[in-house]
Amino acid sequence: MSVEVVSPPKYLVAIVGGAVAGSEATRILTDHGVGVAVFEQNARPYGKIEDGLPRWHDKQKPKEYEKINAPLHHPLVHFVPSTKIGRDLSFADLKDWGFNYILLANGAWRDRPLEIEGIDDSIDKGFYYQNPFIHWFNHYTETNFRGLSCEVCEDAMVIGGGLASIDVAKILMIETISQALGKKGIVIDPIEIEHKSCKKVLEENGLTLEKLGVTPCTLYYRRRACDMPVASFKPGASEEEKKKTQQTREHLLNIATEKYLFRFQGNSLPLDKIVENGRLVGLRFIKTEIKDDRVIKLPNTEFTVRSPLTISSIGSVPEPIEGIPMKGEFYTWKNWDLGELDSHHNVFGLGNVVTGKGNIVVSRKHGQKVAEYLIHEKLKITPPLTPDQYKKVLEKIQARQKIVGYDGDFSSWMKKAVPHEP
Ligand SMILES: Cc1cc2nc3c(=O)[nH]c(=O)nc-3n(C[C@H](O)[C@H](O)[C@H](O)COP(=O)(O)OP(=O)(O)OC[C@H]3O[C@@H](n4cnc5c(N)ncnc54)[C@H](O)[C@@H]3O)c2cc1C
Repeated sequence: MSVEVVSPPKYLVAIVGGAVAGSEATRILTDHGVGVAVFEQNARPYGKIEDGLPRWHDKQKPKEYEKINAPLHHPLVHFVPSTKIGRDLSFADLKDWGFNYILLANGAWRDRPLEIEGIDDSIDKGFYYQNPFIHWFNHYTETNFRGLSCEVCEDAMVIGGGLASIDVAKILMIETISQALGKKGIVIDPIEIEHKSCKKVLEENGLTLEKLGVTPCTLYYRRRACDMPVASFKPGASEEEKKKTQQTREHLLNIATEKYLFRFQGNSLPLDKIVENGRLVGLRFIKTEIKDDRVIKLPNTEFTVRSPLTISSIGSVPEPIEGIPMKGEFYTWKNWDLGELDSHHNVFGLGNVVTGKGNIVVSRKHGQKVAEYLIHEKLKITPPLTPDQYKKVLEKIQARQKIVGYDGDFSSWMKKAVPHEP
């Protein structure tokens, strides 16, 4: 049964993506009496909270899920799950339906390609990108997990530099240590190893990595440790403040390598692949130096690293959607602060799709900012929908809900909705 709205709202907004930014905008819009249709590609609207944030955040995840659920469970909200804009419904069709505004809260779901010609031919053959790898780690323990299964092995290489690449290195370490301990008859779940740290678990068992026979993975970064985007400069930071931030970055990396025992090698830029028998077995690198914030390749410093597994974790970018113009990796925003799209006056972006920041608080605040801008600036100059216009959009929404088997009851849908498989 779909929820009957007794007096129809004057405005209807479509939101693409129901996770952190999308649900926060939904909360603000419905608080002001605006009707919202949330189009979510997956059955569950948890986005990168479910498929990014690693599962050792076991206390935080349920709290974030609740923060997403609450606004979507509202009589003014029409949830449209399992509907990917650009696949199940085109952006042009969505525009034609007659919403007052469209908000793109679809995050960054495409791994930034590693710039080595032909490297993608090695996907699943000694090479993974971060997103499917983290998806596997977050879900493989679930009963009936049928997604992509990833192999994990010691002495792997991670190409990256940001916080997510540190998580990838941690996953490799806790998984390989858990497996090696298991072979000695010591059963410790990878999540317990993460909570305690690899160092502590080995100490408790009178072991070291060498004694256990595990070669650690190495995180390769093209810049220096002090450049890692694990802490940001404050806007308008002085040279002194920038230096402090750089020290914080080095400190955070040192803590991670000390606790989780992976290795770090900065100033190393991957140049080429080494493929043997159809499998990626290593990379050729060149040493770099950083000058005026630019990465300079140093002549005659090429070196080769062989490794059974390479994971590229160099960032995620928005997926292209036909009809939304792009400049490079991003949609063409006229105004990044308010997420105004250059080409369509009634389309805005919010959260990670605009900010590019993999940060929950930043996404939520940006969702809030754009929704408030809509409420306080845009809606007052927007003609409301007539009851007939409203009815027509609602019919289209309900027709799509019917196709995906959503009967308007958010709670009962969520009880049976299962995580998606890539
Ligand atoms: C490995 C990793 C570790 C992280 N650790 C932290 C951390 O410790 N702390 C922290 O603050 N942040 C962390 N983050 C980042 C954080 O999870 C994200 O920045 C945040 O969840 C983004 O929220 P969002 O709503 O902007 O985007 P998303 O969560 O990406 O939401 C986008 C939503 O849109 C949907 N969608 C996408 N495309 C379409 C489409 N075409 N049609 C319909 N729906 C679509 C998606 O399914 C999703 O539900 C981490 C991320 C990763 C990957």
